[in-house]
Amino acid sequence: MYDVMSPKAEEFISDEEIRASLAYAEENKNNRELIEQILEKASKMEGLSHREAIVLLDCGLEDLNEQIYRLAEAIKQEFYGNRIVMFAPLYLSNYCINGCKYCPYHLKNKHIARKKLTQEEIIQEVTALQDMGHKRLALEAGEDPLHNPIEYILESIQTIYRIKHKNGAIRRVNVNIAATTVENYKKLKDAGIGTYILFQETYHKESYEKLHPTGPKSDYAYHTEAMDRAREAGIDDMGIGVLFGLNNYRYDFAGIIMHAEHMERYGGVGPHTISVPRVRRADDIDPDVFDNGISDDTFAKIVACLRIAVPYTGMIVSTRESRESRERVLKLGISQISGGSKTSVGGYAKEEEPEENSAQFDISDHRSLDEVVRWLMELGYVPSFCTACYREGRTGDRFMTLLKNRQIINCCHPNALMTLKEYLEDYASDETKEIGGRLILEELKKIPNQTVQKKAAEYIENIHLGKRDFRF
Ligand code: SF4
Ligand code: SF4
Repeated sequence: MYDVMSPKAEEFISDEEIRASLAYAEENKNNRELIEQILEKASKMEGLSHREAIVLLDCGLEDLNEQIYRLAEAIKQEFYGNRIVMFAPLYLSNYCINGCKYCPYHLKNKHIARKKLTQEEIIQEVTALQDMGHKRLALEAGEDPLHNPIEYILESIQTIYRIKHKNGAIRRVNVNIAATTVENYKKLKDAGIGTYILFQETYHKESYEKLHPTGPKSDYAYHTEAMDRAREAGIDDMGIGVLFGLNNYRYDFAGIIMHAEHMERYGGVGPHTISVPRVRRADDIDPDVFDNGISDDTFAKIVACLRIAVPYTGMIVSTRESRESRERVLKLGISQISGGSKTSVGGYAKEEEPEENSAQFDISDHRSLDEVVRWLMELGYVPSFCTACYREGRTGDRFMTLLKNRQIINCCHPNALMTLKEYLEDYASDETKEIGGRLILEELKKIPNQTVQKKAAEYIENIHLGKRDFRF
């Protein structure tokens, strides 16, 4: 039975409720009156229920689909403006005891080079990342209590926060590791992590069990209830995601919104971010076994409908997506992207020999961070390296208040411009610097609060003079 307040995975992600919602959406996909009503509600920018959102996803009326896209763009603009937060993944270890069928790190893959970074190697990787200009990382590691115990992850986080190379610093470490115990989540919280990220992959229990035949991850309930344990441990920035293409996308779309609803009602804090990866080609993975792949158009529609359904949640795409695909979804709701990424263990400090390939998946966007930053600015976006909220303790509820009161423009915008200025001074090519300099002058004028605008301009001048790390 469906119960958003239940602690049990099978009740807050009720299969029965998802099926009923999908059937309802199917029946109403050309119901103009209903879709218009939902759009009217959505235009208040306070979100939609999973059932309403799936009706929009399925909408078969051309003109209303256009309205859906325009509304997603308006919500994106209202809450996030033209800022795009930048981050990079850092792969610590590809040892893994799970049997995930879509991931080359699965235990039985014998062609992949297994690697685990030593603390010394982490210093090299992070130094390389700092020298590119990154300030925000997402740590990735397979599940392996022997090779990657929680102590290894904690020690690595400490090492990363300690490294200061030239003007570089990693100011926020997000962590994407396997579902674990409340006790371990407490340890992660004490280590000062930013967001705890865990992808559900698919919410469809039967498919989940087929895709995860062995290892601890095969326990659907333990995995699906992980965010509640993280919350119990005091973590209040949590990132969820599904791997689109593993299962029927409509099912997973409904599932992820139900998960967000559960987190907000049951744990008191909705997800900080939603990631929308798509299945990619990778070593020892046959993409033909996944017949649920989604087209670029469907992908764009998913992003737009998620933006409308959960306006307060940041949305992330990675370099799995091509430049063209990223360009399209940035407009529709994406607020964070990775740039200059390597998805192999040790990939930043040294170029790998092809035969030693240890990458998790193929990258579609191979551009450097400087190229991505320039490209974003040419499209009219402001690349942001901001980590201010985390460092000011504005997490969970406090962050949501900022967002819901629409104060982001007086806070995120100046922070974005100041961190972009740091990037331009320390790491950018001449061409990027020139475009960025002009952009900052223009964008400063958009800060409505005059006191903040003046202060931000002063800070930016100080950054030019060599000072660093200002924030609102
Ligand atoms: Fe391991 Fe994660 Fe890959 Fe599964 S998806 S095999 S848990 S690294
Ligand atoms: Fe994110 Fe907070 Fe910075 Fe805004 S001020 S970009 S919400 S960290």
